Amino acid sequence: MIVTLKKNAPQEEIDKLHHAFEKRGLEVHEIEGDDFNVWGLVGDTASLDERDILANEWVANVQRVSAPYKLANRMFHPEDTIVDVGGIKIGGHEPIVIMGGPCSVEGKDQVVRIAKEVKAAGGQILRGGAYKPRTSPYSFQGLGYEGILDMAEARKETGMPIVSELMSADKIDEFVENVDLVQIGARNMQNFDLLKAVGHIQKPILLKRGMSASIEDWIMSAEYILANGNPNVIFCERGIRTFERYTRNTMDLAVVPIIKERTHLPIVIDPSHSTGDWKYVEAESLAAIAAGCDGLIIEVHDCPDQAWSDGAQSLKPERFASLIKKARRVAQAVDRDIQ
Ligand code: PEP
Ligand code: MN
Repeated sequence: MIVTLKKNAPQEEIDKLHHAFEKRGLEVHEIEGDDFNVWGLVGDTASLDERDILANEWVANVQRVSAPYKLANRMFHPEDTIVDVGGIKIGGHEPIVIMGGPCSVEGKDQVVRIAKEVKAAGGQILRGGAYKPRTSPYSFQGLGYEGILDMAEARKETGMPIVSELMSADKIDEFVENVDLVQIGARNMQNFDLLKAVGHIQKPILLKRGMSASIEDWIMSAEYILANGNPNVIFCERGIRTFERYTRNTMDLAVVPIIKERTHLPIVIDPSHSTGDWKYVEAESLAAIAAGCDGLIIEVHDCPDQAWSDGAQSLKPERFASLIKKARRVAQAVDRDIQ
């Protein structure tokens, strides 16, 4: 970290600040300039907040040299992390993983039926929400525990691992017992108590990006999970909120190479919640694979106009199947396979 001090800072104030940094275990290297004095702080600066240092009236500027995340940082962990989801490996040079299924579990028959279609189309992991974060309190809120048990039944019938969203830490045992991949939704990306709670389990976590979160905010949320003891984190980009209204959210696919450059964790793309329209899901999926993502999570429904949530962005099984066929060819063009 580089701290620039005003030239007219009183010696007594300089000594105080110098001592404060040393007390935190940092080495302070000083360069005396004509207009400013510059300090290079060497050591573990992760717990320092630039704004706190700037609060000192004799400090002119503070600049971070290294990222504030350590465990997620590729610099300290150069090899790719590969996350095992119920026997399916995600990340590194592993084949790309396709997850599919309904937005909401609507009952055992529905989810088992769609699960079979997802599997026949070439999907490997079944998605399905049982606890639903809905904008309106009057919208369908999910089947809750019953929905989780329906998902578990679909796993039994198809052999596919299951992913579902955990909204509250008090349901964590239910998820540890029944779910293979625990989804933290966009709205909970900065629910720090929930992040700490899933840091204490060993199940893989699918961490969605908050709709107004910067990439650094998102990586810091992954850092919370890692720092609490769970190394099995997969990023999921689902688009952010911008001024654009022709799509539900805006997908910036540059996140794929950025996440891969900055961190060692896998990243999957959700083209359903980003586009909000089934017509654009295929194009975005193919582009995401070309960009180097490790997987896709796509909403699939056999009767989208009857779906209890997100029907407009759900693919019919036959469209999902043809998307996977095309995706396989794009994957080969970028030297990847699809499971
Ligand atoms: C979902 O996956 O059903 C969902 C609610 O996604 P997000 O948290 O990305 O909005
Ligand atoms: Mn949805």
